[in-house]
This record gives sequence, C-alpha cells and structure tokens, in this order.
Amino acid sequence: MIAAGSTLAQARQALPLDPLENRILLCHALHLPRVALITQSERVLTEDEIALVTALVQRRLDGEPIAYITGEREFFGLSFKVTPATLIPRPDTELIVELVLERLAPQGRLLDMGTGSGAIAVAVACNRPDADVTALDVSDAALSVARENAAANGARVRFLRSDWFGALAADEERFGVIASNPPYIVAGDRHLDEGDLRFEPIDALTDHGDGLAALRSIVAGAPEYLQDGGWLLLEHGYDQAAAVRALLKAQGFSEIQSWRDLGNIERVSGGRFGS
Ligand code: GLN
Repeated sequence: MIAAGSTLAQARQALPLDPLENRILLCHALHLPRVALITQSERVLTEDEIALVTALVQRRLDGEPIAYITGEREFFGLSFKVTPATLIPRPDTELIVELVLERLAPQGRLLDMGTGSGAIAVAVACNRPDADVTALDVSDAALSVARENAAANGARVRFLRSDWFGALAADEERFGVIASNPPYIVAGDRHLDEGDLRFEPIDALTDHGDGLAALRSIVAGAPEYLQDGGWLLLEHGYDQAAAVRALLKAQGFSEIQSWRDLGNIERVSGGRFGS
C-alpha cells in the first residue's frame, strides 16, 4: 500500500480510500494534526508508522466504520466518543436536537430515551446549560460511553439505566420534552447487512420486529411522564412517519406533525400531550 521510504505526502497519495478517509486515518494513526500533512509533508515515514497506517486502512477496507476506527464522531459541533456499544451519531439526528431546543422552556426538563452515545442529551445540555437533562439507556456499556461524552463536553446530564420507562417512578417524574431515537429498523431489512450498520449494535438498530415496537412502547408510556402540554419527539425510519402520527393520534396527542431531515425525508414526528 505504502512503499518503504515514502514521505507523508507520498503515503497520502498511495492510500486506497477516498481522500477524506485517507487523511483522517493517516492523521489518526500517526497522532498528527491535519496541518501536519502540509507542514511535514516531506517527512519520511518509519516502517512502524507505515505498519500502523496500513493496519487502520485495512480495517476500513474490511468495512469497519471510520468512526469506530478513530473512536470518535462529530455531532452538533461537538466531539463524541463512539464504540461498538453505541450507534454512530448521524447528521440526520441533529434535526431532533433542533426541535428539542425550540421547545424546551427555560430550566425545562428533557428526557432522552435510548441515549446511546449520549448525542441528543449532551448536545441539548451543552446548548442549554439551564436545562435539566435526563438520559436513559438499557445498555450499561452505552451509558458508560454517554457519561464520558457528557464529561468531555462539560454537559450536565443525569444518566439512568432503564428499559424505556421501567426505572422511572410513575407520576413522580414529569418532563417538558421527551425525545428518542429508538431502534426502528424492521427485522430482516437489507440495510442491516450493508455498510456501517453491520458493525453497529443490532439492538440499537432494530426491534427484531416490525420496526415500530419501541416507538409504540414510548408513545404508550409517554403521557404519564409528560408535563401538561409537554412534547414527545421521535426519530423514525423513512417510511414510518404516517404510522407514528397514527400512534400519537390514537394515544390522544395534539399538534401532531412530522419534520424532514437533510435528505428531505420525514424523519421526526411528534405531538403534545394535555392542554
Ligand atoms: N438512522 C439509522 C439508520 O437508518 C437507524 C437508527 C435507529 O434505528 N435508530 O441507519
């Protein structure tokens, strides 16, 4: 892949990935800031350095997501640690963060259900230090990643291990906004066997059923945990908006609507409960 005695510039040229990924993995393997590719372009790589870069590039060629190789992904302008215990935050999920930020009252309370890497909860807490943010997940491994992300970004978030509403005391806790990006891919969907998804935690991607099981549980439970007039906001699959709106309607929500993501797909649906 990289010939012995190559300079940094030559190594960069020789790598087989797309230019962005070549740059990211070269810098990550050699612990170099991006600018070093210019300022040190003529530096000759050692054999060990070539071996390090080659190993990472090979993992990428084998299909591993670049975020798991580097251990991080940017989301909402913040850096998040990611491991195979959590989904990799998607740009599309920034939509639900924006919708939460628009709806959370001063000192408002947010519940993020199935927080994974903590992306939604940490992004909201960083942008709204006044907010009272709770994030839950059923996975201890995910919660430990989320806790690290809150600490690294200086976000104040309370974390709970909970199977959906299971660990919340009914009628004691009420939130102004409940948000979730739950597993919503239909069991057997071919996307689960393609690209990055093959490496992501399967229980965070699919309910192993019709894709609506988690969304149903959250819609059914939310009224007991929402303040009067509080919002429930749910990320869902590209073809699930009408089904989620119907679930919200059947549960008695009002102001039900869907919002489109960067790809112009209805990606988040939600509504208010109460007066
Ligand atoms: N948005 C992800 C995807 O389709 C799925 C995330 C999820 O199931 N919550 O790749």
